[in-house]
Amino acid sequence: ILILAIESSCDETAAAVVKNGREVLSNIISSQIELHKLYGGVVPEIASRKHIEKINQVIEEALRSAQVTLDDVDAVGVTYGPGLVGALLVGVAEAKAISYARNLPLVGVHHIEGHISANYIENRDLEPPFPCLVVSGGHTHLVIVEDYGKYRILGRTRDDAAGEAFDKVARAIGLGYPGGPKIDKLAKEGNADAIPFPRAHVADAPYDFSFSGLKSAVLNYLNGCRMRGETVSQADVAASFQKAVVEVLTEHAMMAVKEYGFDKLAIAGGVASNSALRESMRQACEQNHIRFYYPSPILCTDNAAMIGAAAYYEYINGTRSGLDLNAVPNLKLGER
Ligand code: ATP
Ligand code: MG
Ligand code: FE
Repeated sequence: ILILAIESSCDETAAAVVKNGREVLSNIISSQIELHKLYGGVVPEIASRKHIEKINQVIEEALRSAQVTLDDVDAVGVTYGPGLVGALLVGVAEAKAISYARNLPLVGVHHIEGHISANYIENRDLEPPFPCLVVSGGHTHLVIVEDYGKYRILGRTRDDAAGEAFDKVARAIGLGYPGGPKIDKLAKEGNADAIPFPRAHVADAPYDFSFSGLKSAVLNYLNGCRMRGETVSQADVAASFQKAVVEVLTEHAMMAVKEYGFDKLAIAGGVASNSALRESMRQACEQNHIRFYYPSPILCTDNAAMIGAAAYYEYINGTRSGLDLNAVPNLKLGER
C-alpha cells in the first residue's frame, strides 16, 4: 500500500510517499522558519499563504523523488488537526482535490498520532501496546498506545507545552526563534546545576505536567540578575532550565512504564530530538531494562512521513474521510 501524505498544520509544508506504513520512499519538508524568525514566532496568516505557494511543488517533489506517479498511489493521508486553521486548510483542500480528481481514498490524520507513528518508521519491531511521551511545540502528553489508532492519555500539561517553554525561555535569554535547538546547543557549554530551577509536579495528578512556573522562575532569575547588575551566563540558564524539564519528563515516563508494567518506551514530537532528553531517557531505560524507541531528529519535528505512517494504519483499519473533511484546529487525540 502506497500512501501520499500531506502535512501543513504549522510552519512546515511537507509531503511524503510511504510504503506499508514503515518504508519512507520520500520525505520532502519545506520549512518557513527563516520567514517567521523575523517576528519571533509563527505568524498564522503568513504561514497559510506560504503553504499555498509551496504545496504543489512539495508534492511533485515527493512523488518524483519516490519515483512514483499518482497512478501508483493507493490513498491520500492528510493532517486535519490540531494546528493553525488556515494552515491546515491548505493541506486538507489539496488532499481532497487529489482524492477527487484521481478517485483515491482519503484518510484524515491527527497530527499527534503522526508524531507518535514516526516511531514505526525506523523501528520495524515496534508494535502497540507501548507508552509514549509526546513532547512538541503545542503538546505534552504521556499516552499509552493501546493499539494502532487507540490511545489512552495518562497525563498532559496543565499550561505550557514543553516546546513552548523552550521557545519562551530562549526568547527571554535572547536566543531567538525557534528556541529548542538553540537551548539544546548552548546548554552543552553550561553548568546544569548552576541554578536550582523548580521541578514542577501537579498535586493530585502525578502524570500531569506544568511548565509555566519554571518559565516564571527563569524570568525572575533574569530580572534579579539585571537589577543587581550581575552578568547572566546564558549557557548556565539554558543548561539549568533544560535539566529541570528533562528530569520531570524522564521521571513521569519511567513512572508510567513501571506502574503499567511495560518493557518498552517511546518518545515523539519536536522536543524528542533534544539531546539531553534522549540521553536521560536512554540511561533511565538502560538501568531499568526497558527498550527505548525514538525517531531520528528529522522525523521528530513536523514532517509528512510520520503522517503517512499513521495514515497507513488508519487506512487498513478502514478509516475513510469524505470530501466534507474539514480542518479541526483543536482536534483531540483519539477523536475523529
Ligand atoms: P504540535 O506538534 O504540538 O502541534 P509543533 O508541530 O509546532 O506543535 P513540533 O514540530 O513537533 O511542534 O516541534 C517543534 C517544537 O520542538 C518547538 O517548540 C521547538 O523549539 C522544539 N524543539 C525542536 N528541536 C528541539 C531540541 N533539540 N530541543 C528542545 N526543543 C526542541
Ligand atoms: Mg514547525
Ligand atoms: Fe508537530
